[in-house]
Amino acid sequence: MRDSQLFIGGQWINTQSGSVEKNLNPADGQSIGTVQLAGPREVKSAIAAAQEAFPRWAAMPATERQKYLLRAADHMEKNIDRYAGWMMDESGSTVAKSYYEIDRCAMILRSAAGECLHVEGGVCQPEADGQVNTFIRQPLGVIVGLSPFNFPVLLALNKVALALAVGNTFILKPATDTPLAGVTIAECFEAAGLPAGVFNMLVGRGSEIGDSLIEDPRVKMVTFTGSTKVGMGIQKRCAELLKRTTLEMGGKNPVIVLKDYDVDEAVSIAGFGAFFHQGQVCMCASRLIVEEPIYDAFCEKFTALARAQKMGDTHDPSVTIGPLINNTQWKVLDRHIKDAVSKGARLLCGGKHEGCWFEPSVLADVTPEMKVFHEESFGPLTSIVKARDAEDALRLCNDNTYGLAASLLTNDLCLAMDLAPRIEAGMVHVNDSTIMGAMRAPFGGVKGSGMGRENGQFSIDEYTEAKWITYQTKKLGYPTDR
Ligand code: NAP
Repeated sequence: MRDSQLFIGGQWINTQSGSVEKNLNPADGQSIGTVQLAGPREVKSAIAAAQEAFPRWAAMPATERQKYLLRAADHMEKNIDRYAGWMMDESGSTVAKSYYEIDRCAMILRSAAGECLHVEGGVCQPEADGQVNTFIRQPLGVIVGLSPFNFPVLLALNKVALALAVGNTFILKPATDTPLAGVTIAECFEAAGLPAGVFNMLVGRGSEIGDSLIEDPRVKMVTFTGSTKVGMGIQKRCAELLKRTTLEMGGKNPVIVLKDYDVDEAVSIAGFGAFFHQGQVCMCASRLIVEEPIYDAFCEKFTALARAQKMGDTHDPSVTIGPLINNTQWKVLDRHIKDAVSKGARLLCGGKHEGCWFEPSVLADVTPEMKVFHEESFGPLTSIVKARDAEDALRLCNDNTYGLAASLLTNDLCLAMDLAPRIEAGMVHVNDSTIMGAMRAPFGGVKGSGMGRENGQFSIDEYTEAKWITYQTKKLGYPTDR
């Protein structure tokens, strides 16, 4: 195991103004190492280091920046067993999830290396005689990234890699529950020989060091992935400071299952969406909206799938359900189940927990009057909702303050083409899971799920400023000439 230190200006350091805590494995509550938590002095040092490194990094040829990202990818791939192992111990991730995440991170770094060459400007039509009318894209400067515990390396790296690719420097604050995710990324950049200060990593409680990171005038942008409540607070503060943000936040993601769709296939798609990483995924399938004629069959088969999940040692490849991230998250699931059952929902399976271990749970006959219909549970709890027909399913789907991902299951292509654009979500997948990502596809939500888009060109646009530059090649007269 690895103790978690802070990575500032290319150095591993211990905290001087913060505190030291234990890093606990949620599976058994045992310590797997110590965590250095940053305080005000480390925040200042990280911002100063990132600011100092910026001009050289921004001016570096893109082909040079690429090399660092590619070397970091090689290191990540070569050390996949080490980093996947940390993830299993620190975050309750299963073998499949841990290896998927680290492997995907190497791909993200390589894809970002390609994006280094796509920071493109343009030439606009001249609007005056002799005018050359152009625009360029420039990096912003120091960017702060605040990332969550659930896909702790992937979601952080997706921000870091693309922000660095286009010439920014970065301070990452990973979730306090998953400090080794930050260490993983820092180790990869250290091994790649990244110049000091280009990437800095501070573990520390968001509620304690968040404001000082956000408010410093040298920080030009805050990119946040996490809960809607915290994201809204950050957005408020950044708005007062006229600071750029992107916000990737929570979801209550629907799967609409129409009557023509094969029930077994629908259960398989919805099951992955509901129980992957024990439902702790922003895009997890948490409202299964099923058309009446196949409702009973779907409930029966989906419950069988939930009961068949295997809970246990995250190092055992046959296990599909690990522990929740900490010993408080179960309270939300418990509250949702009690409220729903008191209002007429049926608990088809699960509902019990022991510490961080929560049984895969299914509620049927869920209605918009219940909390679980609207609020994120963030655990292995799924609701099944009955719809009269396709239009009723769409109405139920859009009756929510979130709008992240949605899935629509039907073989009727014309109906799918009619419904998909009317679903209020940033991402809609026809005949596939709500859990989906693609390197260059726009990732993000609408309504309470956030604003801004990540990946490929979308990240380039977020992490750069377009600057308009004209060149006048002829002498012009102006109306004010005398
Ligand atoms: P969270 O509690 O909102 O925390 C996210 C990050 O923000 C953490 O690093 C946290 O630090 C930090 N933070 C907390 N309070 C802060 C403050 N006042 N100022 C600055 N930073 C602060 O979220 P989480 O529990 O880690 O993750 C689960 C949530 O993330 C769910 O709602 C899920 O839907 C959402 N999520 C969204 C996406 C997406 O792409 N849309 C992806 C994954 C997860 P501490 O850990 O120290 O509190």
